[in-house]
Amino acid sequence: MKLYATALLVFSTVATAKSNDETKPINPLLLSSPRNIDHSAKYINLPISPGKLRENLQNHASGPQTYGTGSKPSHLDRTLADYTVPSRQEIGIGGGISGNNQGVKIYAQFKQPFPDWLQSITGLTKWPDENAPYIPLDDIDLSVVPKIPKRSLGDCSNVERSHCSFECYRCVAPDDIITCPVMSQTFDDGPSPSTPKLLDQLPIKTTFFTQGINVVRFPETVRLQHQEGHLLASHTWSHANLPGLSNEDIAAQIQWSIWAINATAGVVPRYFRPPYGAIDDRVRTITRQFGLVAVFWDKDTFDWRVNDRSKTENEVYQEVRQWQAETPGALILEHDSTIKTVNVGIEVSRLIHSKQMTVADCVNGPWYND
Ligand SMILES: [Zn+2]
Repeated sequence: MKLYATALLVFSTVATAKSNDETKPINPLLLSSPRNIDHSAKYINLPISPGKLRENLQNHASGPQTYGTGSKPSHLDRTLADYTVPSRQEIGIGGGISGNNQGVKIYAQFKQPFPDWLQSITGLTKWPDENAPYIPLDDIDLSVVPKIPKRSLGDCSNVERSHCSFECYRCVAPDDIITCPVMSQTFDDGPSPSTPKLLDQLPIKTTFFTQGINVVRFPETVRLQHQEGHLLASHTWSHANLPGLSNEDIAAQIQWSIWAINATAGVVPRYFRPPYGAIDDRVRTITRQFGLVAVFWDKDTFDWRVNDRSKTENEVYQEVRQWQAETPGALILEHDSTIKTVNVGIEVSRLIHSKQMTVADCVNGPWYND
């Protein structure tokens, strides 16, 4: 109920703003095109005081750990005890564990500021928590969404074939993407403190399906991904099982993920991967209104299983070699959420050892919406 109250409050704010400026219809999703963003204002200049840094890292450590395994990064306090103000290069570019001295080296970054344009659209003053509120927008019409029942994750018992569920029936719609002409990796769930290592060592351009809540937490990493020529795509705001949500909450998961990427890197994402591959035509009817193309995969590494050792790295590599023997092209599902899956991703890129494509290039499509 709290969410609806927030949405109503926000709606009245938006409605007031609209009535004052009816001659200039705008699509708020596109407001912060690169032309309108002052990137220089968003980079943090050193020096940063160790006290401020500690505060940031503690906020980070106590926040929702939607990346990785959910474990608190316990090395933070120990490292901060010896912390000295690093060079600008060190502090700006993301979290990570590398170097000597037990392999611990900390990068800190400030949360992405909540931009004024988003404040005027939403009536809010800061980024939401995992349960982002739905903000009604002119271009989004939820009344046309088909009435398909909500369902919990993994429950396919009442899903009709006509609903075109990917996770239940591997059904894909004509505008969905599932494979690629050349074998290409994709990375979900980040950015995480381990993402910078992947950026350091990946020899190819790839696609990152990011969670908005992590995008605003590691904005410097996101900008680095963008600057280095990788494709930024949406993996919802907080990794929601979309078929389990109301229409409004699905739209909220999408709009906030778009805004997060938009505010951070100055681009409007075009490609989107539903968490767990969970989708049906109710979800698609909403995500299409945001201009998003749904992307799945045809080869799954199950790399996250190396985190609890229920799968070994070598088993992943053997499967990749098998795929290479079977087919020239595939879209491979991986994750940049932990150091273990990042290490797997680096090794898989060495195994593939040929030119890969971003999802946009797989279909010869535009990289972003504008
Ligand atoms: Zn995911």
